[in-house]
Amino acid sequence: MDRTLIIIKPDAVSRGLIGAVISRFEEAGGLKLVALKMAVLDDAVIKDHYAHLTDKPFFPGLVAFMKSTPVVLAVLQGENAVDAVRGMCGPTDSKKAPPGTIRGDYGTDVQQNIVHASDSKETAEQEIARFFSPAELFA
Ligand code: UDP
Ligand code: MG
Repeated sequence: MDRTLIIIKPDAVSRGLIGAVISRFEEAGGLKLVALKMAVLDDAVIKDHYAHLTDKPFFPGLVAFMKSTPVVLAVLQGENAVDAVRGMCGPTDSKKAPPGTIRGDYGTDVQQNIVHASDSKETAEQEIARFFSPAELFA
């Protein structure tokens, strides 16, 4: 069983899509929620989380977007969870994401794409530790 971190982003939160996104993972994906909370992300944690992107021209806009509303942070557990969840999300650019994927069905563009998901098992463990204490994770 693998674990992966998702962030339901401000576009989904403001459009009332939290339940729809969680349902996809629970119902279609067969994944189990093992941690869940809301938070407003600050500049420092966004910079940590998106450290690979700080040099990109779109980074300031991404920071502004990510802190524009509270987000939902969750840990999903299941067989091959990292790849299964990335597959369900679809590619980064919502406009290129096929119908049936979460980004394809709900996303707007390359920035406002509804959901973050960890991209490897190693990244997942780092990201889970960034946002959740051990006591907030359930078996
Ligand atoms: N992003 C953006 N413009 C771009 C590429 C990415 O605003 O040209 C944002 C988008 O919200 C994306 C996030 O930066 O989800 C992280 O980018 P990454 O390449 O890690 O994509 P992801 O892993 O989310 O598919
Ligand atoms: Mg990424």
